[in-house]
Order: sequence, then structure tokens, then C-alpha cells
Amino acid sequence: MSKQGFTTGIVHGDRISGTEHGGVRQPIHTSVQYGFERVEDLIGVFQGTKKGGFNYARQGTPTTAALERKITGLEEGAGTICFGTGMAAITATFLTLLRAGDHLVSSRYVFGNTNSLFGTLRTLGVEVTTVDACDVENVKSAIRPNTRMVFVETIANPGTQIPDLQGIGAVCRERGIAYVVDNTITSPALFKPKAVGASLVINSLTKTIAGHGAALGGAVTDTGLFDWSAYPNIADEYRRSAGKDQGLLQIRKKGLRDMGAALSSEQAHAIAMGAETLALRVKQSSDNALALAQFLEGHEAVGKVFYPGLKSHPQYEIAQALFKGASWLLSFELLDAERMIDVVNALELPIKATGLGDTRTLIIPVAPTIFFEAGAQTRKAMGISDGMLRLSAGIEDIDDLIADFSQALKLAA
Ligand SMILES: *Cc1c(COP(=O)(O)O)cnc(C)c1O
Repeated sequence: MSKQGFTTGIVHGDRISGTEHGGVRQPIHTSVQYGFERVEDLIGVFQGTKKGGFNYARQGTPTTAALERKITGLEEGAGTICFGTGMAAITATFLTLLRAGDHLVSSRYVFGNTNSLFGTLRTLGVEVTTVDACDVENVKSAIRPNTRMVFVETIANPGTQIPDLQGIGAVCRERGIAYVVDNTITSPALFKPKAVGASLVINSLTKTIAGHGAALGGAVTDTGLFDWSAYPNIADEYRRSAGKDQGLLQIRKKGLRDMGAALSSEQAHAIAMGAETLALRVKQSSDNALALAQFLEGHEAVGKVFYPGLKSHPQYEIAQALFKGASWLLSFELLDAERMIDVVNALELPIKATGLGDTRTLIIPVAPTIFFEAGAQTRKAMGISDGMLRLSAGIEDIDDLIADFSQALKLAA
């Protein structure tokens, strides 16, 4: 297929790669086993010499493979592996590419469960240093001879900090360190981490890529920029492949096959259906988030508003330069934190729920819920105040959202 635009590629991808009976979508393949006329082909699939073959659904099905091709296309990458959840994609990436004695440098501002996973990595002998990655100098000075990987999120949840994505990419390239970027909040509709030199890109498909909140999934995409043949932790059995392919091959075998957090065909199909409208939804939800952020920033009952599309945001310039929009994620604080519960209860449209990147606006108080287990000290280090509210803007009509916030905020004025 010749190079096509973002949405053209995703809505025509299945048909052009070939489906039965002229179907416009890849069907839901429910088989766990795949049989062959000749045993040589079965052997070829096991040995990787028969390309595109399937043997057992834990390692992929035609339906999950079609979704992998789409994600690869959206990220302009070299290949993708899908998992049952975003956390499974992150866990498989860390556990298959890091070993005891290795060192990982991460942004301090990461998804709560990723931060919790760092605790597990430490028990396995992987050293983890977390830094304020908004300043590349902090990343640089944390790097040691055994640093194998740097991990960041494009826009941090809930504080919306943006790391020096480009600067960190340059440092990683110079030192031969794998650069892993979680693109969940921006999604490939707003930003492609390949543009700043990422080696691997993580997407939680559960969020904006699916968009409907009706399926869980995750993906890791290799951008093709990193030469894994120079990476020390690739097992001998995967050294036979081309250097560029070795990282993803190891993640598929050791991560997906052995750890087993496979994406089902049903869920892959649901995600692929949602993904067709990704660019349209992200445009509308980002426009809504910007309008809400501007409204909230001007409201007398509201304190700080955290949104990279506002000029008051410390990384406004980076967001303007790198992203097509500042995303659907914003957070804000009420001046009187005591009014928080009443204000949230008075909202009629936003759903009081966790989750992100849905077509419906979602709202959640951060400290007593998603960052409760992290404890007060971690919350303080991550800039999360007791009165912080996180909002994931949906695609509703903006006038309805503004009217609803206006009436609810009267309780705090
Ligand atoms: C939600 C999320 C994840 C985890 O994804 P799941 O599909 O829920 O496992 C990882 N990173 C970020 C930034 C997220 O928002």
C-alpha cells in the first residue's frame, strides 16, 4: 500500500491487506489452534521461516495481527505486538529487556501502576531511578554505565508534565540506551514518538485508541530506530534475526508467549473498530479540553489548571512544537478543596469514574482514589494535591460541558 494519510490508512487497512469474501474488516478469528496441510509449514511457523503464519492464539491470531499492522501504521513503526492490557505491554517490555543488575531511568511523573511496577522491578534486582525528566540534565546525570533504558510518558497523568522528549532522545541515541515512550495520552493522532528518536512506543489501547471504554488492550511498537544487535540483553536464540528485529522478537517470545498476557480476537476487533475514528475523536476531545481549561482558568472558584494547551503551562512551547493538540487530559484544583465533593456530585454530564480517553467526559478526585495507595509522600513528589481533580474530556458538545461546569462550580464560588 502506498503511503496514505492517518485515517485513510486505518479505515482501508484490512480490505487492502486482504480479507475473505471482500469483507471490509478483518473477521474475529476464534481459533486457538491453526492446522496445516503439510507438516513442513507447521515446522516453518514454529521456526519463524514461514512468515505471517499462526500456530497458537497466545502468540497472535489474524485478528490481533491486523490490529498490530494498524498500530504499526499509525506510529509509522517497524512492527507492533499487542497485549491484553497496556500494563501487560509495559511489564513485558521491562521484564524481557532488563535483567538483574541493570539500571532504568524513568520520569518521576508516570502512571500510578507503572510506578508500582518499578517496586516489583527493584525486588528483582533492577535498579530504578526516577527523575524530573522535564529537564534533560536530570536524566543525563542519572545515567550510569549499567543504564539500559530510559522511560517517559508524553504527557504525564494527572499533572500533565511533558518531559524534554527531544533532548532525552538525543542523549539515548548518543549513549546507545533504549528509549521507551508511553504515548497513551497523546496517541499517534497527536504525536509519534519516533519523531524524537524513541526506540519503543507503548500505547494503552484501552484509552483513546479504542475510545469506547469497552475493551482492554496494550501495544508495544518498535520504531525501527534502535539497533538491538548492540543491546546486551538479547538471548542467543534471537541473535540470528536482523539487528532491528531482535528486540520485538524477544518481547513476543519471552513477553507475550511465555508471560501469556495475550489480547483476544474479540477485544482486538472492538479496539480496531474504535480506532477507525481515532483522529476525529481526538480532535474533538482535545478542542473540548482546551475550551474547558480556558473556562476553568478564568473561573473565580478554581485555582491551578494543568493543561499543556494553556500559555500558563510550563511546557506550553514543547506541546505547541511537538503535538498536534494538547490532548483530552486536564487537571485542576479548587481554591477551596473542601468543596470538591459537592462540586463533583453536582456535575451531571461527567461520569465519576476512573479511566481515560473515552467518548464521555470522566472526572475523578486524584488523591483519594488512583493515587491513594501511593501515599502522601509520593503524591507530594509527583505534585498531586489533595484537592486535585482529573478530567478526561469526551466528545460531547462543548456548550453542554461548559454549562454543566458553570452550574456545579457555583457551589464553590
Ligand atoms: C491506562 C494507562 C496505562 C495502562 O493501560 P491499561 O490498558 O489500563 O493496562 C499505561 N500508561 C498510561 C499513561 C495509561 O494512562
